[in-house]
This record gives sequence, structure tokens and C-alpha cells, in this order.
Amino acid sequence: MNDIQMGQTHIVLLQGDITVQHVDAIVNAANSSLLGGGGVDGAIHRAGGSAILEECQQIRNRQGGCPTGEAVITTAGRLPAKHVIHTVGPVWNGGSNHEQQLLAQCYSHSLQLADEHQLTSIAFPNISTGIYHFPKKEAATIALNTVKEYIEQHPATSLKQIMFVCYDADNLSLYQQQLQAMN
Ligand code: ADP
Repeated sequence: MNDIQMGQTHIVLLQGDITVQHVDAIVNAANSSLLGGGGVDGAIHRAGGSAILEECQQIRNRQGGCPTGEAVITTAGRLPAKHVIHTVGPVWNGGSNHEQQLLAQCYSHSLQLADEHQLTSIAFPNISTGIYHFPKKEAATIALNTVKEYIEQHPATSLKQIMFVCYDADNLSLYQQQLQAMN
């Protein structure tokens, strides 16, 4: 199962590269420095060019980076998306450091920011499941449950499409199972 309708919003799963998605915003699994890094963060900055980093630096000058669980928005530079929402996922440390709540906040704060900018489509990567080692199954459950709760609590959301762009087959399969269980 690769899609589901939740209220006015279509939820879509796919496997691929988030940097090529034509959406109002792609979400970056950034680090709190906002200065770029490996994984999806590196891919977004490479493909989008220096305009993204320049705006990240301005945000750093204003507010000194981005705390875990929070989100900021910038241009998408040369990417087909219009904006990049940078959110900072938690590093998995066994689950006793509020990792679950912080990961949920990454999704809800990104959705809130998208709504504040009246965006209609957003694409998420599998935040924290790479270098930050969050267990993939639990991360998929948190991602989909948080989106569902957000839509239930914000029936007038501007978002008509929410995509989960899974990079690896493992994550796609876990998201498919979770979506099936929610249906
Ligand atoms: P984190 O530090 O939050 O764990 P990573 O970038 O290491 O961030 O990994 C987050 C997820 O992004 C992982 O599932 C990884 O496979 C995935 N990923 C890496 N490159 C891309 C890409 N170009 N498009 C979509 N997802 C990607």
C-alpha cells in the first residue's frame, strides 16, 4: 500500500531521491549547526547549491543554529522544490533521552512551518534513521502517527500532499506496513 487519504490530504510513499521531487518543500534531516553534513543533508546542499547554505548562515547569525526537534525554512536554490525545511532529528541513544518525542516534533514543527507558509505539498526523508541510528520501524511509526495526528488537529491545513521519500527498500517496506496497519 503506497498511499492513503487523510482528510483533505493525500499521503504518498515512494522510494527514491528527495532532491529531485517537485514539491513546495522538501525536508532536510539537518544537524543543529545548519552548516551541512553527510547523508541527505549533503545531497540537498550539493544539488541545491550555495544559496541554501547562505540562508542557513543568516539563520545561524540570527538565532545560533537550530535545536533538536525544531525546524527552519530556506530557499531550495537550484532544486526543483521551492523551499527546504531543515529540521534536526535526535541522535538515537537507547531511547531514554526523549528521542521519540523529539522525532515527533521534527515532523509536527515541519508541518506547522509548511502551513505558516501556505505550502500545498511537502516531502519528508526518513529523519534520524541514517547517521543518527534511530530504529527504522519505530521511526516509521512515529512519522506516520505524527502526520495523522497533525491532520486530525489541523483540518484546515494547506497541505494537500505529504510524501515520504524512502531512500532504502527497508524503510519503504516498514512505511508500507505501518500505512496498512493504519487503514
Ligand atoms: P540522520 O542524521 O537524520 O540520520 P541521514 O541523512 O544520515 O540523517 O539519514 C536520514 C535518511 O535519509 C536515511 O534513511 C538515509 O538513507 C536517507 N537519505 C540519504 N540520502 C537521501 C536522498 N538523497 N534522498 C532521500 N533520502 C536520503
